[in-house]
Amino acid sequence: MKRRYSQSALFAMLLTSALLPCSVAMAAPSQDIHTTQTSDWYNAGQGPKVYGMRKFPYPYQAMLALSSDADSETLRKFNLVHRFINTTQQTPIGRGLGLDYADSIFMFNGNDHQAFIDLNHVPMANELTYFRGITAQPYAASVLDRYVQCGWVDTLHTYGDFSRVNEHTTVFRRSLAATAANALAKRGDHIEVWTDHGNKSNVDNFGSYRRAGFYQYQQGEVPGSPYYHTDITIPQGIHFVWPDTSSNQFVRDSVIFPLQLADGRRVWGFWRYTNEHYSPQGAVRWNWTPYGLREQLTEQHLRALEAKHGYAVVAQHLCGTPYPGVLPKDAVAALRLLAAHQHEGKVLVTRTSRLLHYNVAQQYVSYDVTHHFGRTYIHIRKISDPVFGAHQPSIDEIRGLTFYTSDPGRTVIELGDNPLPAPLIQHNASDGEHPSVGIRWFPPDTADHALTVPNIP
Ligand SMILES: [Zn+2]
Repeated sequence: MKRRYSQSALFAMLLTSALLPCSVAMAAPSQDIHTTQTSDWYNAGQGPKVYGMRKFPYPYQAMLALSSDADSETLRKFNLVHRFINTTQQTPIGRGLGLDYADSIFMFNGNDHQAFIDLNHVPMANELTYFRGITAQPYAASVLDRYVQCGWVDTLHTYGDFSRVNEHTTVFRRSLAATAANALAKRGDHIEVWTDHGNKSNVDNFGSYRRAGFYQYQQGEVPGSPYYHTDITIPQGIHFVWPDTSSNQFVRDSVIFPLQLADGRRVWGFWRYTNEHYSPQGAVRWNWTPYGLREQLTEQHLRALEAKHGYAVVAQHLCGTPYPGVLPKDAVAALRLLAAHQHEGKVLVTRTSRLLHYNVAQQYVSYDVTHHFGRTYIHIRKISDPVFGAHQPSIDEIRGLTFYTSDPGRTVIELGDNPLPAPLIQHNASDGEHPSVGIRWFPPDTADHALTVPNIP
């Protein structure tokens, strides 16, 4: 973090300097007033001292997102899961948890497996998708538009479920990407997160093609391929990609990494926790269904996350099984444990897109500090995003950013040189380190947004 003095602050300092003993007056303007003894003394008359950033919004020690893939999703299962996790109502699974959780969706269904995916023999053909099959005819489009806009959906689990029994065949083609991207744009559905899906038939996957070997089937990023689409998809708004990489690391200091695609475009990659163990042969033992939740969300994992002040993105398929109650008892208990950690102010649970944006802002925000008539001003200048470029952030991009200060009441946070509206500002008592001032996190939304539609199971 670079700290510079603004013109007005320099002027104020020079004015004050005139009243100070010579040696100090000469020294002060050229010194970092936050680190030297002289300047501590000097700073006392200048306003509170800023000690740098607190990693997560107060009082939280860590941040976690559930990232669930849309495989075998039906509207019934989707609604059950979201009523339980997002609302605080009584639901068939139990009292709702009131957590911020957003799902993923498919746009198309090209899956030819003969399987039932829900009660009453709902076939794979009725998997929850935006369009019907691989046509441009709407299937659950209207309800999924609503879910994107209310925040229950923030991820594309690729353009569709293209898993074929014979994975050397595919029904994906570039025109489907254009159809999907156009439809989403037309409805104002802004989706920034992409997670890869399924077997080698899912040639629209991208992010790992350059790793070669197995990943050569990922043609979405390869110019000249009939399945190339990242020239449509990245400009359309996808910012974060999970490129089909497994990991047994639950806690990370940062979950994002720059990813250069085969077509030269750049996008953020991100890590998800997908497994705890490997077979003796080294094969991944995925724990990303509801049956694995109790292995994922353990007291031990959550304590480590808090102790290390880390991020976790936990991969799941919450609607992925035909289990009638959707979430088995021990999965419900694991989610309740997570909710308890949030309610105790330890882990902030949020949707994947918010966690990823926060990770970028927390890591790459540029700010400077000035002092003026007994107040201290923190000027947030820009997000120096190394992938998408430096830019002036929106309010939502800086929500949650928190600064340690000796006196929150006399520390002002500004976006550039404009103070943020008072309702956005939060003053925090000391957490053992220092008091802090922060920009409020998103207000909670525990409303029941569930919709039912005739003929969509
Ligand atoms: Zn999948």
